[in-house]
Amino acid sequence: MDWQKVLDEIAQEIQPELGVGKVADYIPALSAADPKAFGMAVTTVKGECYRTGDAGVPFSIQSISKVLTLTIALGFENEDLFDRVGREPSGSAFNSIVQLEQEQGIPRNPFINAGAIIVTDTIITHCRQKAGADLILDLARKLSCSPRVRIDDEVARSEALWGNRNRSLAYFMKSFGVLQNDPEEVLQAYFCQCALEMTCQELARAGLYLANDGVDPVTNQQIATHAHVNRINALMMTCGHYDMSGDFAFHVGLPGKSGVGGGILAVVPGICSVAVWSPALNKAGNSHAGTMALELFSEKTSLNLF
Ligand code: GLN
Repeated sequence: MDWQKVLDEIAQEIQPELGVGKVADYIPALSAADPKAFGMAVTTVKGECYRTGDAGVPFSIQSISKVLTLTIALGFENEDLFDRVGREPSGSAFNSIVQLEQEQGIPRNPFINAGAIIVTDTIITHCRQKAGADLILDLARKLSCSPRVRIDDEVARSEALWGNRNRSLAYFMKSFGVLQNDPEEVLQAYFCQCALEMTCQELARAGLYLANDGVDPVTNQQIATHAHVNRINALMMTCGHYDMSGDFAFHVGLPGKSGVGGGILAVVPGICSVAVWSPALNKAGNSHAGTMALELFSEKTSLNLF
């Protein structure tokens, strides 16, 4: 496969889509992103890396961090984690509160905000000796092989200041007895994980264990078990794009996870990990051009899983 040719063609063909949609501004620190920025990177299980456009520009990975926290929490709790968070698509917005009351404070899945807050809560329960956010940052640095990866303090502060919806979700789940720790402590770690700043190149490298049964193929380190990676990829496929998860599976056909910073991480099991970034979002809060670029990717490479 001529990966570089594929990426260069996508970067060319995606031009008319750049800037279509809206940059997230409900977290004010995100609103400064250039709506027309576009970057994409592929890392293959052989360790080769290909990139195009702004693939070296750091951006806020936001909800893509939910994949990393799920990996850590599954390592701690195995399937017991699913006593407190479901594994069904929500069909609702990422920050919706409506289902939570009907379903006794148990979030539908780990990739909506409420579910990710429970996952972070689990991490805090298991690692009192170290702040939850530090553990997540360490994993992001280890997986990307990049000590440069950092938590953007300005974004984290902005999330905390404007995070009343997330605060509501956390306290609501606390009222049902589902959240184990102090809601403010959990939220602080959650805001920090969302504020992780990475480039497409770093993110594609970080996602490689998901394409290789849980083992980093370059360092040979076991990051997650084979069974856990199966679970994570299944959840990315069914729940990774909120109420447009079906649409993403329909058009792209790969496990993927989006974030409101405009990034998407996608996995081709056995072959490669792909990261794309373009900040203008569609109505569900997923990168418009990023989604279209991945659709082009799966068409051009015939790597659509179906
Ligand atoms: N930090 C964002 C929030 O909590 C993450 C949402 C997202 O990326 N979809 O609202």
